[in-house]
Amino acid sequence: MIDPKNNINDVMDVAILDAKVVAVSKNIDPKKAAQVIDAKGMYVTPGLIDIHSHNFFGTEPDHYLGNGLEALPPDGFTFKAGVTTVVDAGGAGWKTFDAFKTQTIDHAKTRVLSFLNIVGEGMRGGPYEQNLSDMDSKMTAMAVKQHKEIIVGIKVAHYVGGEWDPVDRAVAAGKIANVPVMIDFGGNNPPLSIQELFTKHLRPGDIFTHAFAELGSREPIVDSQGKIRPFVIDAQKNGIVFDVGHGGGSFRFSQAIPALKGGFIPNTISTDLHTGSMNAGMKDQLNVMSKFLNIGMNLQQVIAASTWLPAKVIHKEDLGHISTGAVADVAIFSLLKGKFGYIDSGGFSMQGDQKLQCELTIRDGKVVYDLNGISRPAWDAPSSTTNAAKPK
Ligand SMILES: [Zn+2]
Repeated sequence: MIDPKNNINDVMDVAILDAKVVAVSKNIDPKKAAQVIDAKGMYVTPGLIDIHSHNFFGTEPDHYLGNGLEALPPDGFTFKAGVTTVVDAGGAGWKTFDAFKTQTIDHAKTRVLSFLNIVGEGMRGGPYEQNLSDMDSKMTAMAVKQHKEIIVGIKVAHYVGGEWDPVDRAVAAGKIANVPVMIDFGGNNPPLSIQELFTKHLRPGDIFTHAFAELGSREPIVDSQGKIRPFVIDAQKNGIVFDVGHGGGSFRFSQAIPALKGGFIPNTISTDLHTGSMNAGMKDQLNVMSKFLNIGMNLQQVIAASTWLPAKVIHKEDLGHISTGAVADVAIFSLLKGKFGYIDSGGFSMQGDQKLQCELTIRDGKVVYDLNGISRPAWDAPSSTTNAAKPK
């Protein structure tokens, strides 16, 4: 079991009753249990938290990641990768959040949270995301306060102008509602200074996503000599959160590998899942974690960056750990050894020798994914007919 919050990296038993963890210890008597899952040789971790995903899917053409065709239903892409919580990164704004909640959040088995876009219309694409007059700090903060359990922060993305207003208005909303902001700084033309962003505009706890992007429209964190910029290290020390947000265009080995060699690791690992990344180099949360495992982070670090660290970043300290009394969101992984290939968003490949595979996912105490049937009785076991008749 790897549970970074509780400093556990050891062989442990976990007991779950209803939706809660009721015991974690070296030896729990299996006779006390109605069902036992043997995870010998595997890794048991808290359910993963992906803080950059796009799940406000809909059928409106030209609505991009806000009720449009490019966002994805959460349950099809989460449990298979051990993810039990996603944060939709700015699909909805204060004007469209109710539709997102009614049509997606209320029906998903995955826990779906939201960074509310500073743009009232959300991530509708095209001119909608360039409309400064639709970036209202007060209304955005009010919507956050109304849905405190679900909305965990404010998102800025896709703005192509040269002004700081979108960032500053998001931070103003974040101050009113006491939540962090997540910045996608991908498109300003000409590019704005990321040093100025970290030191003059963001607060400790605010999130810089797409950390390892290499785009003409944004300054990279690793310079042309392959050195991590010293002010980036300083920014992280001062509390700026560096998030992966892999996506279809925002993760390059030419940034990540030199950054890790220079002693810099991301605070949080996330997917930026949408139709443009799901079948490209990104694939899923585990594939992104496996990349970092192969380029210098250890297993404890990639698990921490996908469980307890993101839980703290979004101020959801009740999630991301397996403590007695915690919600029973648990994942079980195998660490495969062999030859594996990985692709970045520049289209370049890298060879690695390890890969994480999700074996089983538990959400709210229920098995929601089981790759190899480790939670099910054998079909020819004496009691198989009665057991199998009641899938949980
Ligand atoms: Zn995104």
